[in-house]
Amino acid sequence: MITKISVSKIQQAVNEAYNKFKDNKDGKNADYIPFLANVPSDLFGISVCLPNGQLIEIGDTKYVFGIESVSKVHTAALVMNQWGAEELLNKIGADATGLPFNSIFAILLENDHPSTPLVNAGAITACSMVKPVGDSAKKWEAIVNNITQLAGSAPKLLDELYKSETATNFNNKSITWLLKNYNRIYDDPDMSLDLYTRQCSLGITASQLAVCGATLANDGLNPVTKTQVFDPTLASKIVSLIATVGFYEHTGDWLYTSGIPAKTGVGGGVMGVLPGVFGIAAFAPPLDGSGNSVRAQLAIKYIMNSLGLNIFGKNRGEIVFE
Ligand code: GLN
Repeated sequence: MITKISVSKIQQAVNEAYNKFKDNKDGKNADYIPFLANVPSDLFGISVCLPNGQLIEIGDTKYVFGIESVSKVHTAALVMNQWGAEELLNKIGADATGLPFNSIFAILLENDHPSTPLVNAGAITACSMVKPVGDSAKKWEAIVNNITQLAGSAPKLLDELYKSETATNFNNKSITWLLKNYNRIYDDPDMSLDLYTRQCSLGITASQLAVCGATLANDGLNPVTKTQVFDPTLASKIVSLIATVGFYEHTGDWLYTSGIPAKTGVGGGVMGVLPGVFGIAAFAPPLDGSGNSVRAQLAIKYIMNSLGLNIFGKNRGEIVFE
């Protein structure tokens, strides 16, 4: 038996989650650069995008924040679409690291391998693979166009964020050059890191991330623009990457408690994908110790559990449009 979930029931769960957690003050903004530290901590938005493109939202869903590591999903999809699923597996990998997103140790443990495009190492390698190799401007255009197509509208570069990320990304420089040493950077290393840093500095809204999630949930067909963004056979592969490492060293705990593959970023955004059902995004700047938004996690978990949805269940649910 499939549970029929009405749009009004989803709306109710979204509203309840918002009201339940809006005053939660746990966690703190990323503070490694002033831009992120200074984003108002009380911002909170939740957005769900349904397979017909309809958005169910509450709170600060139009606030533009740093996409940060959520962008790793988008560029992984682009690279898979350009190179094929097999090449992504060969050149980067599809494994969990069980370690923080910026771990150098993870690269050494794998003996030369970045493991997955959804941690810093693999994401920098992914940027090096974006075609056309050798042309920074055209690669950047491809990255931004791809995010635009997934979101149904363009992201906007947050220049101040980009400048501060660039001025402080010493650890990512180490990762880049270590990968270069292992022949895992497929373009100019500095250029690849710059593209990665710039994509992390794109501004996005919770509404846009919900549409991205819904496009992934919909086998690459954007439900709002009706554009087929990537080869539909790649969707399940991309979701498998998210499920495996979307919350870094806490991915198992996340899946166990939420039942939905999701990807986080230190800007406070979380994007979840329930294939065939919906995309969901939540945004709130304060983070837990692993760099994952506290309120976004609480909200998505609450919505999944109160609707009785779970990617691992036999009954994944079906939305009815009344
Ligand atoms: N720009 C950040 C970094 O590379 C992104 C990290 C994140 O969102 N987890 O360290």
